[in-house]
Amino acid sequence: MAARHVTRGVLTALNGTTGAGLLVALATRAKIRRGRHGVLIAEGYRLPMPPASCFTVGSVILTRRSADWLLADERRELFEHEHHHAKQYAVLGPLFWPAYWVACGYSYATTGSWGARNFFERNAGLKAGGYPTDLPLRPWVRRLTGPSATRSRRRPPGSPSPD
Ligand SMILES: [Zn+2]
Repeated sequence: MAARHVTRGVLTALNGTTGAGLLVALATRAKIRRGRHGVLIAEGYRLPMPPASCFTVGSVILTRRSADWLLADERRELFEHEHHHAKQYAVLGPLFWPAYWVACGYSYATTGSWGARNFFERNAGLKAGGYPTDLPLRPWVRRLTGPSATRSRRRPPGSPSPD
């Protein structure tokens, strides 16, 4: 295992987020399996929230499916997306939760999607996480930022074309 994966594992253990992930797994009777990069997979998570097929707490990825499902080659990108969240937990520790919810609120308010403008989801990769990548801003945001934002992006008249 690469040193950076060990560091991530140690940090998420020390900051308590992996412990929290294991508690959620235990409380929901999900089974712990080995993933990649030292990340654990808790398979067979049963609660209806959150609605995603998997989510990460510390270095534990909880999924309604099986570990084999998540580790299959065709879901490598999804695994890497969740692994990226584990790295975010290594940096932020328990602060990840309030920061993530603020990011969700901002994204939802501006686009109607929890992920499209959510810093953490964008950082982990929107497409790999199953989020829309080209969602327009809600009308009220466009009204707020629209004319001036559009104007500043436009080339001034008479300026040479960029290519
Ligand atoms: Zn995600």
